[in-house]
Amino acid sequence: MRIPCPLCGERDSKEFSILGDATVKRPDPDGPDAAGEFFDYVYLRDNPAGTHCELWFHEAGCRQWLVVTRNTLTHEVAGAELSAGRKAKKR
Ligand SMILES: [Zn+2]
Repeated sequence: MRIPCPLCGERDSKEFSILGDATVKRPDPDGPDAAGEFFDYVYLRDNPAGTHCELWFHEAGCRQWLVVTRNTLTHEVAGAELSAGRKAKKR
């Protein structure tokens, strides 16, 4: 699989580490149901079949976090952008 890093160009996925879902947002620890929201945040992740936004770290390159849009069924990568400065998209 090839990932188009915005800074380094298209690179092999072996240069990257994946963190997971880029759409989840850390809950407010002072919120009224913080324990329940943190349980969902940590343990109840979706496993979508199809297009998905994921966080990847370009470990052997520019060492930037990227949001990669990838089809989890075909591994086709539709695009990648720097995570820094990007606003989280709603699920
Ligand atoms: Zn890079």
